[in-house]
Amino acid sequence: MKCRHCATVLHPQQDVFIDLGSAPPSNAILDAEALTRAETWFPLKVLACPECALVQVDEVQRHDALFSDDYVYFSSYSDSWLAHARAYVERVVQRLALGPRSRVMEVASNDGYLLQYLQQRDIPCVGIEPTASTARVARERGIESIGEFFGLALARRFVAQRGPCDLVLGNNVLAHVPDINDFVAGLAAVLAPLGTLTLEFPHLLQLVRQSQFDTVYHEHFSYLSLHTVQRILRAQGLVLWDVEELLTHGGSLRVWAKQASNPRPICPSVAALLAQEAAAGVGRRERHRGLQARAECIKDDLLRFLIDSKRAGQRVAAYGAAAKGNTLLNFAGVRPDLLPYVADASPHKQGRFLPGSRIPVRSPQMLLEDRPDVVLILPWNLRDEIVAQLQAVRAWGGRFATAVPELRVD
Ligand SMILES: [Zn+2]
Repeated sequence: MKCRHCATVLHPQQDVFIDLGSAPPSNAILDAEALTRAETWFPLKVLACPECALVQVDEVQRHDALFSDDYVYFSSYSDSWLAHARAYVERVVQRLALGPRSRVMEVASNDGYLLQYLQQRDIPCVGIEPTASTARVARERGIESIGEFFGLALARRFVAQRGPCDLVLGNNVLAHVPDINDFVAGLAAVLAPLGTLTLEFPHLLQLVRQSQFDTVYHEHFSYLSLHTVQRILRAQGLVLWDVEELLTHGGSLRVWAKQASNPRPICPSVAALLAQEAAAGVGRRERHRGLQARAECIKDDLLRFLIDSKRAGQRVAAYGAAAKGNTLLNFAGVRPDLLPYVADASPHKQGRFLPGSRIPVRSPQMLLEDRPDVVLILPWNLRDEIVAQLQAVRAWGGRFATAVPELRVD
């Protein structure tokens, strides 16, 4: 396999970042009828490029198996994510002085969770969203959504027809594109000479520091440091001018970038964070060696907890049918005998089954009626929000658990 950015040939053993065995695609949630059929499991191994330090999942044979029109993540189902989007819009409108004559493009605009706040301010905006089910919801909100995958070809066509954009943004999409060079070339092509590009992505530094191995899944192609993102942007003529550390998704970065010809000054935050990454050895193989062992330790602790609970007659149920939960459950080999169901607020997932583990997805209402002794929160990054929503669990003496970065039950 060659590095997705710099095409250096990667060594299947020497360049391993973490090896999680194999798993079906994390988002391939199953209908009842699918339970009679076999699932395809793909190797789930992550490599680190020795040249550009891009951390990336090993090549998977059938990319088309990973993204289906069935993809059922609707951004608007998370209250904290909506609040994050609203705060971003307030900040960016002020910082970049956006108004009714500006043009904004969001790549991977999902159901319009963010563009709705720009629309409320009469700032012209367009979303790019190839997933039909979520794009449909955005259109019902009156948000223009182009139903195609973003890349250089689409960007050139857009600019030829409508001109460049003053703000281009992409939240949690850069890590998910298979051809990261073509994607970033498209961002550069659509960005106005004095425009700003913002991108948010989970920070590799936090993945390593907090053992967030369950954020690894096939659809998550790249694990990004500022160092590598700077390099990928620079190759397309883009320059970072600011970076912020965010708490979202267990620790993310928001980068602000511009065309190289744009005279806007560069904030000291960029050099400071690059220095922090260099000191931590991000992207250097020898500094990642402990991650595999820590992931196995987390798996062992979770399994022991589930087995001990079962033997003690304590009932455990899970909450949040997120992708990271599938990585954890399949890596640990957890099945319905240890975890009989997972509750999730999304009606699109209820009545279906998690890929691999085949654990059924139920409504949160069922959880409240069933009253398990422990609720295992799979999206640990939303622990506080979920605990607040599920205060009723405390009323019957129930406890909450999370497995990452270490088992916590209280
Ligand atoms: Zn590389």
